[in-house]
Amino acid sequence: MSAKRPRLEQLEMRGSFVPRHIGPDRRQTEDMLAELGLKQLEDLVETIVPANILNHDVLKLTETISERAVIKYLRKMRERNKVLVSMIGMGFYDTIMPAVIKRNVLENPGWYTAYTPYQAEVSQGRLEALLNFQQAVIDLTGMELANASLLDEATAAAEAMTMSRRIAKSTANVVLIDRDCHPQTIAVVQTRAASLGYKVIPVDPLADLDRHEFFALILQYPGSRGEIRDPTDIIAVAHRKQALVTVAADLLSLVLLRPPAHFGADIVVGNAQRFGVPMGYGGPHAAFFATRDEFKRSVPGRIIGVSRDSHGQIALRMALQTREQHIRRDKATSNICTSQVLLAVIAGFYAVYHGADGLRMIAGRVHRYAQILAAGIAHYGHEVVNQIYFDTLLVRVPNRAKRLAARAEEAGINLRVIDADHLGISLDETTTRNDLRAVWQVFSAPGREMPDINALDKILDECIPDGLLRQDAILQNPVFSRYHSETEMMRYMRKLARRDIALDRAMIPLGSCTMKLNAATEMQAISFYEFAAMHPFAPLHQAQGYQQLFAELEDMLCDLTGFDAFSLQPNAGSQGEYTGLLVIRKFHQVNGQGRRDICLIPASAHGTNPASAVLAGLQVVVVACDANGNVSIDDLRDKLAKYHDTLAALMITYPSTHGVYEQAFCEICDLVHQHGGQVYLDGANFNALVGLSRPGRIGADVMHLNLHKTFCIPHGGGGPGVGPIGVRSHLAAFLPDHPVVDGVNPAKGEHGTVGTVSAAPWGSASILTISWAYIAMMGASGLKRATLAAILNANYIARNLAPHYPILYTDANGWIAHECIIDCREFKKTAGITVEDIAKRLIDYGFHAPTVAFPVPDTLMIEPTESENKTEIDRFCAAMIAIRQEIREIALGLADPDSNVLRNAPHSHRLLLEEWRLPYSKQKAFFPDSEQHDDKYWPPVGRIDNVYGDRHVMCSCPLDWGETRD
Ligand SMILES: *Cc1c(COP(=O)(O)O)cnc(C)c1O
Repeated sequence: MSAKRPRLEQLEMRGSFVPRHIGPDRRQTEDMLAELGLKQLEDLVETIVPANILNHDVLKLTETISERAVIKYLRKMRERNKVLVSMIGMGFYDTIMPAVIKRNVLENPGWYTAYTPYQAEVSQGRLEALLNFQQAVIDLTGMELANASLLDEATAAAEAMTMSRRIAKSTANVVLIDRDCHPQTIAVVQTRAASLGYKVIPVDPLADLDRHEFFALILQYPGSRGEIRDPTDIIAVAHRKQALVTVAADLLSLVLLRPPAHFGADIVVGNAQRFGVPMGYGGPHAAFFATRDEFKRSVPGRIIGVSRDSHGQIALRMALQTREQHIRRDKATSNICTSQVLLAVIAGFYAVYHGADGLRMIAGRVHRYAQILAAGIAHYGHEVVNQIYFDTLLVRVPNRAKRLAARAEEAGINLRVIDADHLGISLDETTTRNDLRAVWQVFSAPGREMPDINALDKILDECIPDGLLRQDAILQNPVFSRYHSETEMMRYMRKLARRDIALDRAMIPLGSCTMKLNAATEMQAISFYEFAAMHPFAPLHQAQGYQQLFAELEDMLCDLTGFDAFSLQPNAGSQGEYTGLLVIRKFHQVNGQGRRDICLIPASAHGTNPASAVLAGLQVVVVACDANGNVSIDDLRDKLAKYHDTLAALMITYPSTHGVYEQAFCEICDLVHQHGGQVYLDGANFNALVGLSRPGRIGADVMHLNLHKTFCIPHGGGGPGVGPIGVRSHLAAFLPDHPVVDGVNPAKGEHGTVGTVSAAPWGSASILTISWAYIAMMGASGLKRATLAAILNANYIARNLAPHYPILYTDANGWIAHECIIDCREFKKTAGITVEDIAKRLIDYGFHAPTVAFPVPDTLMIEPTESENKTEIDRFCAAMIAIRQEIREIALGLADPDSNVLRNAPHSHRLLLEEWRLPYSKQKAFFPDSEQHDDKYWPPVGRIDNVYGDRHVMCSCPLDWGETRD
């Protein structure tokens, strides 16, 4: 036998995904280890990770499966989902995602792997797409201003409530909510109000308004059961009472209906899902939020604004950033960070592709079908209760609702059972004539012939009175009429995508955000029809594939974290924080410790932490950090002693945002427990722990994970996200449940739960397939290897950059965890150069900047992740080192202190249209890295003027994309 012939097992190993996910191959790993003076990856554990946090138990996740096998498995899973025609409505509708958008956006890494557009110059494509979304929302709602998405309709309504509290003059602490709002919206608003001490009263706004004093009124338009009412008088009463009025509206209906702004609404929220985004068993979808211009500084979430660049040309960016948690901490307007950018982009493109005429055809057809359906149902002798409606019928069927719904299910249709006597039927873009006939069949009476659709159509009168029909034009901006052929649309999307730096172009070394590979195989199942097309309130027995997915993913996450139970409901990290703190509060209350309301938060924490604590009704007390960036144990002891009786929780990030494994984590947890508090762990940095440590076994009581960081859900340009929380067993009973779907928290006990925190029972269910696939393909050993590779990459970067940039924090032996902070404070003094200049100069080298000025001002935080190989990391380090040399040239007087490559960066092609007057060469400006020549990234704009943008806030599509003038 030949010694050279590989063994069969070796040949069979070819299918492993692990080396596809982890960037450095064996050779590169050895080289990097050697530079750090280490022999093997395992040495990192002993050298860097504190021994007392290490896990020694064997994980259950021993098996790994290949990419092909994962798809096979998920295909089996999807077969257990039975997708029926959904006529349930309640804020979720079937829709048709145009194939050109599916292929070129949803399935295109140029869009889905992008980061939140903090670096506006490399984000002009998605910023334009988001501006289109905002413009569509502004047009349809009639409001003056819209943001670039929130998490879902229900949380958007809750945000509207808290915004109303900040603005309304009424001193009452009561919120009135229309009984005809979607039940999940009422539940989420109630949960949010409870922790803030507001009282929520569900009312019939036509009857009950005068009797109450209140600061916010929330209406649904059209109502959840379909009826459309003119809210003019109601809104006038609310305004007389000094309250603000929020209207939760349906975007498609607004194509035909008079917009809420015309009735005097102050805030309009809703779900943009039916603009081309699949239901996905609840999400992700983009919620919208629109309001008056005068309230713009109080709006939650991000707003895209128009500004100008260094050439005086129009350029886009995120406006009004000063409202955000990063700056305002516990005084922030909202805790929302990751929102739903990718889904807002898709909804915006849907409006662009269809334009006003296309949308009118879609909405008009849905509405006409609804009227025809109603006439047919009446023909069979049933009472259609709604008089004025868009797409939803309320049918009275005394004592027969359940039976008829069962009959419909047999015919392949899900109806909404409202109570024993009423059914709801909602139509959508996908409804066909056959669907109408199938519904009639359900309601049919013996001896009555089925009506003829065309005949009914001829005799129908419009059920919506003129006063409620839309009179004004919509979508008049040219962007909504230019791209209606597929060719033009394809090119428009490609034009925008190529303006941006996403992971398909270069590494995005963002500290804390873990921009790792989002593998193609992981993404596949989101496009499977049986996952994509399921309504979140479909009967559980139709959704067994999903139920299996949740159970398996929860098991995996429990195994990796050491917690006993998980809730998948929170749809971003911020929502996980809020939910976890609610769980802790509930625990204290149930134990007769309701007075515990102090939340200790280290100074280094992410801005969402204090903002979430405030939302959960807690008081924030900051704990200092010591000179090494660690939580100051002395200050912690002081604060614990001071708040011994009122301590609710410590919220801690581990490893800390300073990028170092603190030695004292276990000690800190013990101290908090001794004082009666619970430990909340912000798990955004779990990428440094997976497979090494199980936080639930070393002192943490609750933890959120960002599946869109550690577990491969793509960032989407700022969402979607998933922020599930894990808890130890004593907290499991309090995890969220849901008002529409039973059994969401199987551990629910006599004391109830914290309530509901998302519109959908399992949050953004459809993208959980991504994290499931990642974990299944990596297994425990692959995940551990990924963690070690991430630590190796980060330390390799730190080692390479240390001679050029001081590394701000390291452990006692000079090591870091999975990210590092480089100190740029000195350059301000020596060369007049800021971190922003460095960030912008990196663009000329073709890179997206690291995290700027968080958690320490005037620093950059770099996280390479395990997915980047040595070649890419070396390329990045070379750029950083070259930039350091450019800074030195300024300091030494070799380059002009005012006009130099850093201050003028990024160098856009627009410079080539002018005479060259800069005191350095074009070569140096555009091609600082000699290897770039054949694949140069050209920033579409020069440096963006933020001050100008904040002085001239404009958040709609410009008609003329030329120069701006003062
Ligand atoms: C990203 C992040 C968060 C917030 O998570 P979102 O999903 O954006 O809401 C919180 N804490 C830390 C440390 C983070 O990095």
